[in-house]
Amino acid sequence: MNLILLGAPGAGKGTISKKLVDTFNIVQISTGDILRKEVQAESEPGLSAKKYMDAGDLVPDDVILGIVEKKLLSDECANGFIMDGFPRTVTQARGFAGILDRNNMSIDAIIELQLDDDVVIKRLTSRRTCSNPECQAIFNILYTPPESEGVCDHCASKLIQRSDETEDTIRKRLDTYYEKTEPLISFYNGNDFYYAIDADRSVDDIFTEIEQLLL
Ligand code: AMP
Repeated sequence: MNLILLGAPGAGKGTISKKLVDTFNIVQISTGDILRKEVQAESEPGLSAKKYMDAGDLVPDDVILGIVEKKLLSDECANGFIMDGFPRTVTQARGFAGILDRNNMSIDAIIELQLDDDVVIKRLTSRRTCSNPECQAIFNILYTPPESEGVCDHCASKLIQRSDETEDTIRKRLDTYYEKTEPLISFYNGNDFYYAIDADRSVDDIFTEIEQLLL
């Protein structure tokens, strides 16, 4: 099964993706996670991406399309994938359609998680992420706190507030979302496998609705 998850930053794409991975035995492709790993490794793509990420801007389309194609062609995606945070621009969506065509792949469902801006800001400013690049587990000090303050439940690494999750940068990321990513909704929503979901509910409720759509 091949899926795309769309939605503003903080809408819950990462959390829902992880549940989809467990249920359908598919791979999560989070371009944000891949980029953060590159930044921590201080690799060349990481160093060039960091300035865009810290400013709340998008990393250039050609860099992202290269990352995605490499990952899609790896064996780990043989059973299917879920795109989390990609595509983010109409250019990426067109490039992605080309990658799928070239490799005889198709998309089974596009799911948009809908959430108001004020809820996004509250969720993201209280979010904490595991600093271990191989883990990157997400907690929320208001809704899903770790068992021990500041420490990851899964790998015991330190939890951090991401440098792009301060209120100013979140507002900039939302502006970027409306300017560059929202146009994707009209690009995709003519498809009869496009589903818009209310994301201002518990993770379990959201997931149950998605599961029913997909089964
Ligand atoms: P995320 O974790 O998905 O919110 O991504 C964090 C940051 O990584 C974004 O604010 C962008 O700077 C960058 N990024 C992630 N995915 C993409 C993408 N598909 N296109 C461009 N930039 C991206």
